[in-house]
Amino acid sequence: MLRQVADGVLIHESEFVQSNAVVVHGRAGVLLIDPGVQDHEMACLANDLSDSGQTVVAGFSTHPDWDHLLWHAELGAAPRYGTARCAATVRDQLSDPGAKARIAAHLLETEIAGQVPLDLLGLITALPAGTARIPWDGPRVRIIEHQAHAPGHAALFIEERGVLVAGDMLSDVLVPMLDLDGAADPIEDYLAALRLLEGVAGDVDVVVPGHGSVGGADQVRARIELDRAYVLALREGQVPGDPRIGPSAKPGWEWVSDVHDGQARRLARRNERDATPG
Ligand SMILES: [Zn+2]
Repeated sequence: MLRQVADGVLIHESEFVQSNAVVVHGRAGVLLIDPGVQDHEMACLANDLSDSGQTVVAGFSTHPDWDHLLWHAELGAAPRYGTARCAATVRDQLSDPGAKARIAAHLLETEIAGQVPLDLLGLITALPAGTARIPWDGPRVRIIEHQAHAPGHAALFIEERGVLVAGDMLSDVLVPMLDLDGAADPIEDYLAALRLLEGVAGDVDVVVPGHGSVGGADQVRARIELDRAYVLALREGQVPGDPRIGPSAKPGWEWVSDVHDGQARRLARRNERDATPG
């Protein structure tokens, strides 16, 4: 079911990790951002769109993680854009013939095993590096690319609607998840990305995270501050007093504490390594 969050902007929420697909109405059809996860959910979305006489004229994946790279045949054959860096990362991942099998194996350990269609995964059209807006016939959608959660991660700012689509940042349920594999300085990258989002925060009425609840104008700066405090605590090797982890985590989200423990451990190892001479 589609839910309107601003004039001409609707979201479709997945049962899986509260993933948000975003639909933006344009003149000749819709832009679909991070289409969804499970087969029946994307089919339902395709149905809702065709019932209201809409076709998908463009897609966009905010970053190269499998849960943001999916597609359903019934959504049609529109170009599915991503930043150049996102597209290159996906191409790289999929050049390994075992990549999809590994995703499928990982999914076997989740409650959505067998529910995720992988055949159209990752068919991303690269936008030239530095592209400022999504090329489509609809409200202007600014691309705010940064290095934070994943290579080529992009937030989208639908200026005329005051909607910030944050990708996997600014969530009320997930703590910042740093790119500990790819980045030379994941902490500084994340802080720089938050500053970029802060640069538009004054014009944002609605923030849509990749996972979690949609927030209003008052939530934008609050979530930026919460994410920054978390990252700064990680940097200092402190235990962050963050409502998303520990006993205050929402029911069903207790595993986020494990995500936190894992990245705190990896960062500590990284710091030790960097401090070792030679
Ligand atoms: Zn995600």
